[in-house]
This record gives sequence, structure tokens and C-alpha cells, in this order.
Amino acid sequence: MAFPDFFSGSIPSSLIIGGITLGSRFVMDAPLLSEVLPDFLEEVVHLLRESGAQPLEAQLRALRIESMCDCGDENCASFATAAEVKVADVVELQAIEGHLIIDLNTARQICFIEVLGRPDVRYLLDEYQDSLK
Ligand SMILES: [Zn+2]
Repeated sequence: MAFPDFFSGSIPSSLIIGGITLGSRFVMDAPLLSEVLPDFLEEVVHLLRESGAQPLEAQLRALRIESMCDCGDENCASFATAAEVKVADVVELQAIEGHLIIDLNTARQICFIEVLGRPDVRYLLDEYQDSLK
């Protein structure tokens, strides 16, 4: 897994090289997942219920997108939901489209959400980042 990069709306992605961001970080509060991706959130909640992991629902609804994955893969719309990403366990969801995996740390806190093959999510994340410029 690539190290996620932090939201840096004023910095063009061309300046992000090898995971090192030039410029300042934490220029604003991390946005709520429910604000940036409300439909995606409901989809994940639905899939959590199906996979028997619904105790994570309340946590999911309060998550903030701390940083975007910077692996550079066009199919990747993954993002970190904690300042520190240390994965101890994963919950793989049976998504109808793409691959969705929730990464948990040792405290069972959601620290990263892996989203692959979901251009709809990627589009909304890109649009959000563009709106910060
Ligand atoms: Zn990625």
C-alpha cells in the first residue's frame, strides 16, 4: 500500500513526487466522508450490514477524509481516515462495482478505506479537491 498523501488543495499533483508533498499540510479541517461522498457512505453502510460488520456503522458516519492515497493509480480512489495508518485488520466488502476494503488499526478504528475500480468515487474526490483550489 502506498503512503497516503494529505489533502493539499492548492498544490498541483505534478508537484507531488514519490509521496513527498511540497508545501504546507493541514491547511483546513479534514472534510467529513458524509459531506464529500454521501451516497458512497450509504453504500458502504449497506455492505457493512450484509457482512455482519455493522458495529462499524456509527464510526463510519463520523469519519473524516484525512488524506488521499497517492499511489498514482487511475483506478484508485482510496483515502485515509486517520492521521496514522497502521492496518491490523481488514473488512472486505462485497461491492457490486469495484473493490472496497476497510482497514482497521489495533484499536478497531477505521484508518483507511481502499477503493479500487470506482470512477464515480474518484470523480467526486477529484471534484472536491478541485473545489479547494
Ligand atoms: Zn492508491
